[in-house]
Amino acid sequence: MEEHKLNVVVVGGGTAGWMAAAALSKLLPTRCAVTLVESEAIGIVGVGEATLPHIRGFNERLGIDEAEFMAATRATFKLGIEFRDWARKGDSYLHPFGAFGRGHGQVDFHHYWSRLREAGAPVAELGEYSMAVTMAYANRFALPDPDPAMIGSTFNYAYQFDATLFAPFLRKVAEGLGAQRIEGRIVDVELDGETGNVTAIKLESGDRVEGDLFIDCSGFVSLIIGKALGEAFEDWSQWLPCDRAVAMPCRTETALTPYTSATAMNAGWRWRIPLQHRTGNGYVYSSEFISDEDARAAIVAAVEGEPIAEPRVLKFKAGRRTRSWVRNCVAVGLSSGFLEPLESTSIYLIQAAVGALVELFPERNISPVDRDEFNRLIDMEYDRIRDFLILHYHATERSDSPFWDYVRTMSVPETLQEKIDLFRRRGRLVKYREGVFLDASWIAVYTGQRIVPEGHDRRADLPPVDALAREAEALRREIRAIAERMPDHRAHIELYCPMAQAA
Ligand SMILES: Cc1cc2nc3c(=O)[nH]c(=O)nc-3n(C[C@H](O)[C@H](O)[C@H](O)COP(=O)(O)OP(=O)(O)OC[C@H]3O[C@@H](n4cnc5c(N)ncnc54)[C@H](O)[C@@H]3O)c2cc1C
Repeated sequence: MEEHKLNVVVVGGGTAGWMAAAALSKLLPTRCAVTLVESEAIGIVGVGEATLPHIRGFNERLGIDEAEFMAATRATFKLGIEFRDWARKGDSYLHPFGAFGRGHGQVDFHHYWSRLREAGAPVAELGEYSMAVTMAYANRFALPDPDPAMIGSTFNYAYQFDATLFAPFLRKVAEGLGAQRIEGRIVDVELDGETGNVTAIKLESGDRVEGDLFIDCSGFVSLIIGKALGEAFEDWSQWLPCDRAVAMPCRTETALTPYTSATAMNAGWRWRIPLQHRTGNGYVYSSEFISDEDARAAIVAAVEGEPIAEPRVLKFKAGRRTRSWVRNCVAVGLSSGFLEPLESTSIYLIQAAVGALVELFPERNISPVDRDEFNRLIDMEYDRIRDFLILHYHATERSDSPFWDYVRTMSVPETLQEKIDLFRRRGRLVKYREGVFLDASWIAVYTGQRIVPEGHDRRADLPPVDALAREAEALRREIRAIAERMPDHRAHIELYCPMAQAA
């Protein structure tokens, strides 16, 4: 017997809303009919310009053409994030999307690298053995080599794009797949007196929109999961004290770098994200340690090009709803929680939630087993990202401002302390099979933040030191030579995906 389609109501038309609507319409057309409600008068957050490589998989599953998407969102390529001044003023390192070394041998490359350092043999910075780091600093870009045996295949990439253009791009995709859109301001949420399930949302016009399943993509206001269903918010600001950002785009007057920069500031950090038509900038800070006025002045002083908008302050709190799926409501995006943009994880979290929902899509009677599994997966993603972000702040030697004193001396979650201790002892990583931030990411941030292993895995003792040093040097040269043969990042974009010029 053919199953009845569920009426899915997506509440909100920001990045989260349209990603959910497009994915459900594309991947489950026989299981659901999608209606999205949004209010143009309220608008979207409109920041969120840097992404992680996982977004490529999302676009591919939706059949989105890469060059078309990049031209429409004025995107550039992103090979990683550069961190400046984090462990000490004057330091810098790049967290690359890709491996260090060639990925063969008994153990991971960083153990051989540690051994060379311990032996006092000539050895370069770890980043020089990474394809992505070398390309990024040389300002070059080409697609990865499809042959996995080649060193040119050992990197991945993401995009930097105009966040205000991504949702409209996805809207076209979703509507083309049959999703319906309703314009209007939601003023009430109706709950069933017996089950507590959401039955409908009410619009200012008086219209009601009924549904079987509600996807709450309403942003920070969290209309359904927070306001109507009262799901608790777990506040993580004791570890992640930044609670505001002041954003200010400028003209691109410096090189079009294929990476995002995150520069530590007195009370937080500052992003720089180069797009085809402008550069995004913003200062993420803790209002406990700096006033809005001083943060505004700091970003105005720091931008490296002519400003093209007034500085705009946004407020947020680090943390998440205890559960993201409650009754017949699934929260996706900012309504489910927020972790500050230091590692560009919000859009990834949207993707993870949408992916888990597609896999665990319910029948009319929602199974608690599916719902619990969804919540377990989302918890895992949030917890892991939380620990990774805290690492950047806590592993510092800076003591030049009250903010850095606080984060350096705060106690961190046990789950993170264990990871740090393991790495410090002999470079060992807590292994993950799935999800975000696998080994290379942790290695980059530990070493970049000056957590250098005191020893190495003993299997790295096998090759003689001289031979190892020669091999490492040959690898470094090979990587450099390949990067130098690649086109300049801007030149590659101009050939592959130039944005449409205004008429
Ligand atoms: C400072 C900052 C920097 C960021 N940087 C990054 C980054 O680099 N990378 C990254 O991945 N993410 C980043 N993010 C996060 C990213 O912006 C969001 O994850 C993303 O935009 C998704 O937002 P959303 O769709 O959940 O909410 P929103 O964009 O707020 O959309 C909410 C939607 O709900 C609608 N709505 C709300 N109330 C009502 C109502 N009453 N009636 C009808 N409709 C309503 C709105 O109209 C809108 O359509 C950043 C966030 C901030 C604050």
